[in-house]
Amino acid sequence: MVKRRLGIYIHIPFCARKCIYCDFLSFGVDAQNYVNWNGLRKDYINALCIELLSCKHLRDSYIVDTIFIGGGTPSILMPGDIEKIMDTLRLAFSVSKNAEITIEANPGTLTESKAAEYIHAGINRISIGLQSANDEELALLGRIHNYDQFLVSYDNAREAGFENINIDLISAVPGQTLHTYLNSLEKVMKLKPAHISAYSLIVEDGTPLAENDRLLRLIPDEDTDRKMYEATERLLISGGYNRYEISNYARPGYECRHNIKYWTLKEYIGFGIGASSFFNQRRFSNTQDMDEYIRIMTAASKCGSFEEVSACVNNIRHLDEAADTGHLMEEFMFLGLRMTKGVSASSFHKKFNRSIYEVYGQVIDRYVSSGHLVNNKGIISFTKKGLDVSNSILADFLLD
Ligand code: SF4
Repeated sequence: MVKRRLGIYIHIPFCARKCIYCDFLSFGVDAQNYVNWNGLRKDYINALCIELLSCKHLRDSYIVDTIFIGGGTPSILMPGDIEKIMDTLRLAFSVSKNAEITIEANPGTLTESKAAEYIHAGINRISIGLQSANDEELALLGRIHNYDQFLVSYDNAREAGFENINIDLISAVPGQTLHTYLNSLEKVMKLKPAHISAYSLIVEDGTPLAENDRLLRLIPDEDTDRKMYEATERLLISGGYNRYEISNYARPGYECRHNIKYWTLKEYIGFGIGASSFFNQRRFSNTQDMDEYIRIMTAASKCGSFEEVSACVNNIRHLDEAADTGHLMEEFMFLGLRMTKGVSASSFHKKFNRSIYEVYGQVIDRYVSSGHLVNNKGIISFTKKGLDVSNSILADFLLD
């Protein structure tokens, strides 16, 4: 039997401290609750392992070809934690020899020995959250590290043997100017990482940043934001990077295979609190409640039969009601068009058993005529002009 390909996401919801712009599901572990955290950390990893083992029935029908350990800050975990997770994952799933296995790390938490542990555990890609190479900007963002600490982490990763390294940058952050942004970009390019993600800051409701008028006033205006966006593309492309997604650049062959699964609606299962999955044409998400997650997983570990374990684990998964076919078509277009290679009419047909022109013919024709999209033998993609105003065009792919 030919095995189907599967991606796995593992969520580690702990960070040294919350950054002021962050709305991800993660808890800051400051000195005050460190002792409690140590116990919670162990309980959480045990729960994660139980959840992973509850999927071992998929071993014969799926081969895992991408794994992404994200967060939060996975590199905050203690020695041995990541090896335990990876060992359990390999017990539960059949993992391809060539799997891309990524871990996210933040400067200030990535030691030499942790980087070596990751390599030993078979992890072959590391994504380091730098965000800015300017110490004042880092401090305003509430990051725990400065640029020198990032350099130590980067060297630790290289010394341990990581070749495939991503560096995350954010533009339009408080206090930033075009000059300081370009300086960050140039410093990062000098390190020659395999991959650079460059996003523009989004002020999310409910974050401390959204409530802080003084910092909000320090955010560069739209015109400067646009210049940063244009400079990112110009500099990275001239530096040998391929822009394969609106905000992601890679040296040839280093595009992130796991993220491409998200953008092309391929199957993946997420483990841990808040993790989402797309599996068997259904979207579902895990509970965001830490206590509930640990309680149900502990109960699952005491179940007698495999069927009882599965039934128990299903209690933490909630089906996403919105994921009907129309919604999936929208996602296919939104996510696929963010990739510079675009979407293919034949993949759309294969996935939904309908012609892309029957569903989106009018909007595609309109934007091909205006020069924002190009249709090259059934491959529909943004032109440069379209990519620069992609958000407003993508909104027209919403179905009624
Ligand atoms: S390190 Fe990342 S996940 Fe953690 S608080 Fe900062 S932005 Fe959020």
